[in-house]
Amino acid sequence: MSRIRFNALQETLHRSPIKVLQSEKRSTLFGQNVFNKHAMQQYLTRAAYESVMDAIEHGTKIDRKIADQVAVSMKDWAMSKGATHYTHWFQPLTGATAEKHDAFFESINGSLAMEKFDGEQLVQQQPDAASFPHGGIRNTFEARGYTAWDPTSPAFIYETTLCIPTIFVAYTGEALDNKTPLLRALQAIDTHATAVCKFFDKNAAKVSATLGWEQEFFLIDDALALSRPDIQLTGRTLLGHSPAKGQQLEDHYFGTIPARAMSFMQDLEQECMLLGIPVKTRHNEVAPNQFEVAPIFEEANLAVDHNSLLMDVMQKVSRRHRFKVLFHEKPFAGINGSSKHNNWSLSSNNGTNLLSPGKTPMKNLQFLTFFINTIKAVHTYEELLRGSVASPSNEHRLGTNEAPPTIMSVFIGSQLSAVLDDLENVTKGKLSPQEKTDLKLNIIGKIPEILLDNTDKNRTSPFAFTGNKFEFRAVGALANCAIPMTVLFTIVAKQLKEFKIEVDALVGEKKLKKDEAVFNILREYIKDSKAIRFEGDGYGEVWEKEAKKRGLSNNKSTPEALKVKISDKAINLFEEMQVMSKMELKARYEVGLESYSKKMQIESRVLGDIARNHVVPTAVIYQNTLLENTKNLKEIFGGDYKNIAKEQIDLIMIISNHITQINALVIEMEVEKTKANKFEGLKSAEYYSKKVKPFFEEIRYHCDQLETMVDDNLWPLTKYRELLFTK
Ligand code: ADP
Ligand code: MG
Repeated sequence: MSRIRFNALQETLHRSPIKVLQSEKRSTLFGQNVFNKHAMQQYLTRAAYESVMDAIEHGTKIDRKIADQVAVSMKDWAMSKGATHYTHWFQPLTGATAEKHDAFFESINGSLAMEKFDGEQLVQQQPDAASFPHGGIRNTFEARGYTAWDPTSPAFIYETTLCIPTIFVAYTGEALDNKTPLLRALQAIDTHATAVCKFFDKNAAKVSATLGWEQEFFLIDDALALSRPDIQLTGRTLLGHSPAKGQQLEDHYFGTIPARAMSFMQDLEQECMLLGIPVKTRHNEVAPNQFEVAPIFEEANLAVDHNSLLMDVMQKVSRRHRFKVLFHEKPFAGINGSSKHNNWSLSSNNGTNLLSPGKTPMKNLQFLTFFINTIKAVHTYEELLRGSVASPSNEHRLGTNEAPPTIMSVFIGSQLSAVLDDLENVTKGKLSPQEKTDLKLNIIGKIPEILLDNTDKNRTSPFAFTGNKFEFRAVGALANCAIPMTVLFTIVAKQLKEFKIEVDALVGEKKLKKDEAVFNILREYIKDSKAIRFEGDGYGEVWEKEAKKRGLSNNKSTPEALKVKISDKAINLFEEMQVMSKMELKARYEVGLESYSKKMQIESRVLGDIARNHVVPTAVIYQNTLLENTKNLKEIFGGDYKNIAKEQIDLIMIISNHITQINALVIEMEVEKTKANKFEGLKSAEYYSKKVKPFFEEIRYHCDQLETMVDDNLWPLTKYRELLFTK
């Protein structure tokens, strides 16, 4: 075994689980480091408290004087918990989170000092934003960016820093982050869903979106991860032959969580409790060393923040446990990758889940309305939804027979399909009393019963109804949930807006009763959106062909999928719903392309390096051993040596061939990479996708073949079996 590999493996042998102190009940820890309602009630004046609540519930502005009060109280609270610094915490277009810490400490006259934090520091900051991706927004306008307090997501303390969730916008107001469009989309959903809710409940005043994500990830020992330049630099393995035992025995899924991983999880959960992240579920996933954590669902903006925070906390906690967390969607070839299922629903101000069937026919009609409108929205904007999960890393996962395909479709199960089929046959126009009774008793009246024993699950569907919520499964493990959720809430809001206009028209012009109008429109929607409903196997060519016939898009590559972001259809939609301007969309498109090209560039460089600096020299050393051996055999056995050394000679030839191929392919790839770098934007991304990326597999193939031939003692790269099965 090579020195690097040996040392790395030696290190892991001495690891034992870190004991995590579990002194208090989880419920006692929950939210202790969050400036939540409870803390606010303790620390704020009544006027300040009410003002913040008003801002959270109705989006009203908090005036300067109150902001000063809130800031002082927040600082007192934070200092009582040992905080020394504060930061505006935001989510730039890198997809990660950003923070710049400032001390509360200020000196007066050089000799005295005090802790200070006022309204201005709370409400707005001007970070040096020049190095964040902006997709051209900040070239056109002022170079300045601002962060501004988002009171709907509470401040929290991490380590010794008070973190204030903020939006990040350009001087001219364009969003430079992922949170701002999400907040606007949530506003749009609130407006249009509330208007539709009023058909069924006069007291409806607000609709919020809820989100419960499920985060998958791999845990790899950090010494082993460090021994692999590809994991270090790209977050995934660019080569590595699959081990004799992978996941074929399916013995990891829901199995006993290994001791070290368990200790990491306990530590992580404790941190999450303090931060108010309501994690509830933990289990082994399908692949070896793959796990999942999931929280109780929350209001979507908070849930998105909590997911971003969780990913950050995981990195920090993992260091204590000598692990590296991999969020990449496909860190290992031949083994399942990681996703982040986004379960979501809509909830009205009286706590009704609008995607959950109710106890009365009226409640069920409300359920059907939101259910069918969602399906219709996905049908109309399926290509946009596909674009919302496009990323260089998710590209490895979507459409690979372990994850949803790149074709969007909706799965609702056989029983709800039958309900929709029945509704499709409702008479057009006015309904007879008999038909109304029939509908109420036999169709919509039966929904709760049928859903109770609805056990349908279709793991191949990208967008599935799961009894009282939809689950968007195409989202990648590495993604910021705000991106797909913004698209989803915007398309549903737009659809609900259309629906209300159409119902109002039937009631006004055709003099239909409201429920008749609703039935009429829903019937049309069911017909119009049939193409998006698919209950079969989403894997394989049969569905691809069928989907094509149905007119559904199938954008396989990331650049192709991203293009949709700036289509006229997208621009019209986002501008109409006031979620993003054309410029903001274009910026995100440019950032997406740029990130694609850069990541491909890095991967091709790393692969080229490993192939030529690690793999080829090792193969040559082994080949020399074989040559030496053959020479010796010849010396002893003379003319007969060719028979005796047949295996060696064959191997020498095979190794030679692989080496030649690797060298030639790396050179060719480099030529193509140089060409790709000469282009910009879409052209560069497409060139990388079509002309550079295909080399990855080819080069990998030859390297992986060599891995199986070369003496294990020489092989420098930690192997899959060591990465994945070391406890
Ligand atoms: P799985 O998909 O692994 O079978 P579940 O179907 O139990 O698991 O999904 C659980 C996830 O769904 C949890 O993260 C939970 O928070 C979320 N969830 C449940 N109800 C809602 C809801 N009304 N809105 C949003 N998310 C929800
Ligand atoms: Mg799930």
